[in-house]
Amino acid sequence: MTPLLHPFLVNDRFGDPALFVDFKFEKRALLFDLGDLHALDPRKILRLDAIFVSHAHLDHFAGFAQVLRVLLGRNRHIRLFGPAGFIDRVEHALAAYSWNLADRFSTELRLTVTEVLSAAEGRRASFRLKDAFRREHDAAIDLDGGLVHTGETFWVRAAVLDHRIPCLAYAVQEMAHVNVWKDRVNRLGLEVGPWLRALKRAVLQGDADDTPVRTATREGGERVLPLGTLKCELLEIVPGQKIAYVVDALYSERNVERIVALARDADTLFIEAAFAREDEDRAAERYHLTTEQAGRLGRLAGVRRIEPFHFSPRYAGQQARLTQEVNEAFSGHQP
Ligand SMILES: [Zn+2]
Repeated sequence: MTPLLHPFLVNDRFGDPALFVDFKFEKRALLFDLGDLHALDPRKILRLDAIFVSHAHLDHFAGFAQVLRVLLGRNRHIRLFGPAGFIDRVEHALAAYSWNLADRFSTELRLTVTEVLSAAEGRRASFRLKDAFRREHDAAIDLDGGLVHTGETFWVRAAVLDHRIPCLAYAVQEMAHVNVWKDRVNRLGLEVGPWLRALKRAVLQGDADDTPVRTATREGGERVLPLGTLKCELLEIVPGQKIAYVVDALYSERNVERIVALARDADTLFIEAAFAREDEDRAAERYHLTTEQAGRLGRLAGVRRIEPFHFSPRYAGQQARLTQEVNEAFSGHQP
């Protein structure tokens, strides 16, 4: 099964954080963090429909103006997500420019900004170019277990981490793929038809195995069968991909707990490892992770692959060493 999510870091492992997640077969993409985006093809920025910001330190948010420049003059609706205070940040960033010609644009650029305060609480507001990006529809919202965004084929969860300020970690989870073994449909004496779509939907939304499902017989009649029977006779269920994104966090008990829960069983974990193993005290002082801590978090979460980045420039030229430290802790083979 070819993966549908294609994540890549916009910059090298010492560069500003920005993770682009492309969807195969779909004209859409997600971006995690808005560090320097000069290395990102503007055509890719045009594919974005949601941007997830961890926190508003300059190296995670400085690319906001770049996105704005590319999108201006296009009809777009972009969803932005960030931690407590993020709506103010976006409002201020927009207010840094003059929009006196905004009403002359024939296109509309709309930003819907969601602030994640906890797993259960958030706030949402929107800004429209034609209204000179004034804040509107500002209201508190409820969140369900950190679920912040649901697309057609995926959803995104966030966890609030401690970086001396709130910093959001994210996980994008693709929905499971349900494939039908067509030859087996006929072997059961059934005929393919729209009922298969309803069956797939019932499986994806987790309906109980004893749910009755109306099927079509080869003779043109109808037969009601339990969902559980059809599921094991006719369907192949392939779990969707999961990608976790964790940056700028103190290695504390609470952060560890939240990171592990969020990144649990991810296919790929992108994680900051700003400091080398030996600089644990300095990392704690700056509310960042070390290589060893990042690797350990990947192992505790049971992720399949780990991609460390956001290495501090103080270690320029030492990427091999830092990566090795992460991998040693990840595999559990410490020297
Ligand atoms: Zn930071």
